[in-house]
Amino acid sequence: MKSYDVVDFGAPLKPTEKPTPKPQGSEVLLRTLAAGVCHSDLHIWEGWYDLGGGKKLTVRDRGLVPPLTMGHEIVGEVVALGPEASGVKIGDKRLVHPWIGCGACPVCRRGEEQLCMTPRFLGVQKPGGYADHVLVPHARYLLDFGRLSPAQAAPFACSGITAFGALKRVGAAIFREQPILVIGAGGLGLMCLSLLKALGGLGAVVADIDPGKREAALKAGALAAIDAGAADAVKRAQEAAKASIGAAIDFVGASATARLGIDAIAKGGKYVIVGLFGGEITLSLPLVPMRAITIQGAYTGSLAEMKELLALAGAGKVPPVPVHEHRLAEANAVLEELKAGRVIGRAVLTP
Ligand SMILES: [Zn+2]
Ligand SMILES: [Zn+2]
Repeated sequence: MKSYDVVDFGAPLKPTEKPTPKPQGSEVLLRTLAAGVCHSDLHIWEGWYDLGGGKKLTVRDRGLVPPLTMGHEIVGEVVALGPEASGVKIGDKRLVHPWIGCGACPVCRRGEEQLCMTPRFLGVQKPGGYADHVLVPHARYLLDFGRLSPAQAAPFACSGITAFGALKRVGAAIFREQPILVIGAGGLGLMCLSLLKALGGLGAVVADIDPGKREAALKAGALAAIDAGAADAVKRAQEAAKASIGAAIDFVGASATARLGIDAIAKGGKYVIVGLFGGEITLSLPLVPMRAITIQGAYTGSLAEMKELLALAGAGKVPPVPVHEHRLAEANAVLEELKAGRVIGRAVLTP
């Protein structure tokens, strides 16, 4: 099999030939049909996260040591099953739930494997989809994606479930009655707009610094799009919302966007941070109880949420976000484009 691997942090991915794995036990081998390129891949590739104040979290601190095969948004066709694997058959096309935990700890047992302290995420700790084959530990992580094409389906495994998970943490009680603020109109922001519509949300004001991305957000049904970099961005967001903003979902996660999100929400509102751009903020503590706001981090979603999301998307109830298909061999160029902020919608690698 062939994969494109991180061999040195920050250096171009290296095309690598290795023996195609033979599935053991409950494992299932897939031939990759599509692999989405995610912003979080940039962090793995570069090897660090910005914690703010000059502090860094390195990817090695997360226990990741090259060579690494990235790619956690995987759609593939079943080509081989381990002797104990069941639930799928050769030729089935499936989306992979990559957020796999140990399966034994209390967090995994309550169904939130994405929060397991000893994760086995595909494309992070375990080899992922920047390859022509992927090994999945159990068929329960393989999900039907209905009428979508593989390239349309792949982004649901991370950008889709992350946007869905963030909306779940905002809660329908808020997003059905109040407008929300979506910060960042990249792949995740656009997906969030689509899902908000599918879930019966009132709508979202979108904030982004890039006029092209604001345009894309308006086309995707945003109530309004404002310049996140404007000095009076909070006022602009609140005026554009025409009602109190119930929650902000921050798909960027920088100091300035956190400030915008926290300041723009109404009393009782939620600020949900998803993006990993990096930085830090200072908070006036009395204002947290006085405004009764919630600051919540969100990381992907559970297997149950993934099933719920795919049922919605597979039935055609989520307008697809624009995807751009590239050959697997173009992985390096695609990462560079993403790093430069030039990808509108989602880039997907196909073999
Ligand atoms: Zn991702
Ligand atoms: Zn666990």
